[in-house]
This record gives sequence, C-alpha cells and structure tokens, in this order.
Amino acid sequence: MAAYDIVIRNGQVADGTGKKLFAADVALKGDRIAAVGAPGSLKSENEIDATGKVVAPGFIDVHTHDDTALIDNPTMAMKASQGVTTVVCGNCGVSAAPYLNTDVGHWMSLIIKKKENVSKDFAGFAAKVEAARPAINGAFLIGHGTLRMNAMGDDLGRVATAPEIKQMRDLLDQSLEQGAIGMSSGLFYAVSNAASTDEVAEVAAPLAKWGGIYTAHMRDEGDHILKAMDETFEIGRRAGAEIIVSHHKCSGRSNFGRMVETLPKFTDAMKQQQIAFDVYPYIAGSTILRSDMLERADKVLITWSDKVAGMSGRDLKDIAAEMGCSMKEAADHIQPAGAIYFMMDEKDVQAAMAHPGAMIGSDGIPFDAHPHPRLWGTFPRVLGHYSRDLKLFPLEDAVRRMTSYSAQRFHLTKRGEVKPGFYADLCIFDPATVIDTATFEKPIAPAKGIDTVFCNGAIAWRDGKPGGGRAGRALNRQAMQDEAKA
Ligand SMILES: [Zn+2]
Repeated sequence: MAAYDIVIRNGQVADGTGKKLFAADVALKGDRIAAVGAPGSLKSENEIDATGKVVAPGFIDVHTHDDTALIDNPTMAMKASQGVTTVVCGNCGVSAAPYLNTDVGHWMSLIIKKKENVSKDFAGFAAKVEAARPAINGAFLIGHGTLRMNAMGDDLGRVATAPEIKQMRDLLDQSLEQGAIGMSSGLFYAVSNAASTDEVAEVAAPLAKWGGIYTAHMRDEGDHILKAMDETFEIGRRAGAEIIVSHHKCSGRSNFGRMVETLPKFTDAMKQQQIAFDVYPYIAGSTILRSDMLERADKVLITWSDKVAGMSGRDLKDIAAEMGCSMKEAADHIQPAGAIYFMMDEKDVQAAMAHPGAMIGSDGIPFDAHPHPRLWGTFPRVLGHYSRDLKLFPLEDAVRRMTSYSAQRFHLTKRGEVKPGFYADLCIFDPATVIDTATFEKPIAPAKGIDTVFCNGAIAWRDGKPGGGRAGRALNRQAMQDEAKA
C-alpha cells in the first residue's frame, strides 16, 4: 500500500476540466496529488471525510493586486477563505518590481503599504515573497506603468522616447528572465494614458522570446471600447504574446447592453490569435477616486481617503450633501481616495461570464479600508449565486473557469486539475451552501461553505480560519516552462 500523507474520501470530484462530477478518493503525498481512485480504494492514517462535498482544484484568481499582500498578510485569509490557492499579481500596469526609485508614489500605494516591499529587480521581489512563506501561491506580471515610472520619473504625460522605451524593454526582459510571467498595461490610468500603441508594443517585445503573456486594463471600457479592443489585440500581435483582457465590462449606463458588440468581437478575434478575458461577478467596479468617472456611475461609495477621516464606506452623494457642494467638489476635497462605482448592467456581467473566453478574476484591492466585496466574495459568489442559484452555467463549468482554463491561459504548469502528478492545490466545498457573505455594506467577511483548502499539500484554510499551512510559492515562469517540457 502506498504511503499517502492524506486521503480525501467520499467526495464528488470536479476535476477542473469541466468533466461531470464523479465519486472518488484523492490521495496527497508531499506537494502533489498522488492518486485519484474509486471510493474506498485509497487509504491513509490521515483521512478527511468529504461526504456530500465537492473536491475541486484550488481556485486561481487571475486578476489581483496582491503583490505585497502576500508579504504583509501571508495567511492571505481574504483569498484562502474563498478556496483560492494562486493569485496572479501585477495587473493593470502596476507591479512592486522592478522599481528603481525609493519613493512609492500615490499610484503605487494602491498595491504597496511598505516601501521595503518594492524591489529593484524581480528576483529580489520573488525572494521577499518566498521569505514571507505565504499560504498560497503568487504568479507575477510586470506593470508597464511601473516601468514608465522607472524610465520617465514624474514626466509621464507624454509618449516615451526611444532611449526610455529601450530602458523599459530591458527591464521587462530581465524580469521575464528572472521568472515574471508577463506584462500588464493600464492605459486607462494617468501614469500610462499618454503612452502610444507603438510605445506599449515596443516595450512588450521581449514577451515573445520568453513566452510571456500580455494582460490589459484597456484604454477605454466605455464609449470607445471597440477601439480599445483593437489596440489591445494589435499590441498582443506585435509583441507575439497571448492576450488577457482584464475585467471585461461595458462601463456606464449609455453602454449598457453593448456586450452584444464586444463578445462577438472577442469570438472573431479568438479565431486569429490567442485571446481570453477575466470577469468579476459584480455590477460595480472599484479603483481610485476619479472625478471623470462620477458621471457614468449610478452610485459611488468611498473605499478610503488619505485626507479626510471617516469617509470609508460612505456614499459620495451623502458626503456632498453634508458639505453642501457638488459630488465633483466633494471628491476633490477628499482626494487622494478610492471608490466603488456602480456602473454595469447585470445582463452584461452574466453574458461576459458565460462566454467561452471568460475566466474569473476578483480584481480585489487588498489594502482598502472598506474594500469592494469582490476581495472576499468572488469565487463562492460564482459557485453559489451564479452557478447554483441562477444556473448561469453548471458547477463543473464554473470550476473550470476558475481552475484549468485559467492555468492554461497563464501557463501555470500542473495546476488547475485534480489529477495525479499535479500540485496538491485543492478546495473542498459544500455545493449546497457555498456562498459569498461579503456585501457592499460589510465587505470583510469570509464566505460560507468552504471547508478545507490545500496549497502545495499544506492546509491553507480550514473550518473558517487559516489552516496554518504556509507552503505557497512565487511561481517562476522558467521553472514552470521547464516542468511543462519534462
Ligand atoms: Zn484594472
């Protein structure tokens, strides 16, 4: 009899591929899944009874800003509590490395609370993550906005010069060589908005050589979204990189219903090049407070303000009424600040999630005082609300969009399936009760129905609290590519 470390017995396996649930025992040994066998066929001194539960691969949160949260909050409760075992960091053009300056400006503070968590090179940053022994894995993109700040300092309102583009390209090349998995851009944001299509495509050139991917928070998710999609597809083609469009949405009331334009455009483009996108399961978005976003939102909630105390969680309309001024003036008064914007159509969100190119990413912002509930709720909400209650897609397909499909698109070798030889990243949950409990009013709350979560064979979450396992890794592009070939 093989000596397994743990056997999970009597569960229904959702293996991540979309295949129908099947009854099986799952055996773990070291950091791997050692066997998947008929119920009762696998034995260990250490068994977990999963009767009535689903045994799924650990979820992959493909859209996060958890770069330094992995260091500051190594139990990663906001993610482990959802069954998440890998977070893809560095999205939207902002990453904690490589960062050559010592001053962490306002924009970087979105993902960084402590200056010592940035690094001049990616290898140094990855070492900091590993030293923190996080409970779950991280994979890391390099932000084009961060590269711009390195090469251009504060002078960001223009296209980069040829020498600056070369410096950014060299920094990206070095970071990819050291194990970053790709580059993200955030042309929507002030730090990158002046960048031309040519600039981004030229900076992104090393992606082809290393097999890196390109993720894009597009220049426009509202009136000019189709043009922004064309630009994104062009950058990916010119860089020779696979594309992930971030948090796909049609933003603002005047754009409600336009998924009937964007989704067929994705379907067509997917025939020509490798394109996918991520979606979060909410009709509100969240980012920094910007007065040009106020008009298109039906409601704006403040998530934090560095300047005025007591703003977190409040409706900007009430704040403005209290101050006796317009919403724009109130926003100016409390800056710098963050906000939640109600700006999407429920039907659009559902259509996006159900598209063949869609996977799930939370876009949660880990350090907000009053975060968007997606930070704690995304994955159980997809399982409980959208799959079980609304029947948007079967449970097996929901799991696939959060596991194997995500692992394939981000080239996370041997993750995202319940299969012998794969890493023992697993989530055991109750399909009858799993649901998010985090709300816009009370956003910091662990989900219900998540039983036990393993990452690399160690227990990251169990019975409503961190499980003590701290076996997460900084996933390295080169190591993953080598393992894929072996
Ligand atoms: Zn974004």
